Amino acid sequence: MITLKNSKEIASMQKSGAITAAAMMAARAVIRPGVTTRQIDRAVHAEILAHGAVPSFLGYGGFPGSACVSVNDEVIHGIPGDRVIHEGDLVKIDVGALFEGFHGDCAATFAVGEVSEEARRLMDVTRQSFYEGIKFARVGYRVSDISHAIQEYAESRGYGVVRQYVGHGVGRKLHEDPEVPNFGKPGHGPRLLPGMTIAIEPMINAGSFDVKVMPDNWTVKTADHSLSAHYEHSVLITTGDPVLLTKWDEGTVD
Ligand code: MG
Repeated sequence: MITLKNSKEIASMQKSGAITAAAMMAARAVIRPGVTTRQIDRAVHAEILAHGAVPSFLGYGGFPGSACVSVNDEVIHGIPGDRVIHEGDLVKIDVGALFEGFHGDCAATFAVGEVSEEARRLMDVTRQSFYEGIKFARVGYRVSDISHAIQEYAESRGYGVVRQYVGHGVGRKLHEDPEVPNFGKPGHGPRLLPGMTIAIEPMINAGSFDVKVMPDNWTVKTADHSLSAHYEHSVLITTGDPVLLTKWDEGTVD
């Protein structure tokens, strides 16, 4: 069931979204060669608590961190730990915060120092595929119009669009209806209505779209070990332009 949020609920989602955005910026501030993925997680955790919010991911299905930190061929759900970040890595951060009963959810990919041309292009195309998608995050379109736009943009540039994991509604629950795939034919799925809040999150691989779950039962990697990138915001559908609830300052992204 898709829940439409009223103005009071939207106000709460704007707060949880802003806290989630702050957590992303806290992660970004500590990403550099030599830090461990656990140190990044600690920075995210502290930032969320400092706002009086609760990390959405911590304990979700047993997940042991407040951030997912996924490196290079890891797509999503990387468990923070002793892994050390190196120059040239692509680091994907996925964070969520619960505040006043509502979740925010966002993800981004960061280049550590100098990265390959291939990695840079993958990051840029993944981010842009999100922005191609939200051109259709408007009343008058359906969910799969977003999906199709993302797929079209990424595949036409030679990339694989992950099928096994998809975007989702977000609100009182971290994952709500509807599913928001990053692929599909246009004109299908629920109609977009004002008050819908959805997390749109293209996961794009430099190679095949196939992924596999590691023996830790969380970390998802590309099956062919190609690089992967991820970009996500929680988005509010309105009578006008979509609103990014988790917008953070990307001004000087590497
Ligand atoms: Mg999500």
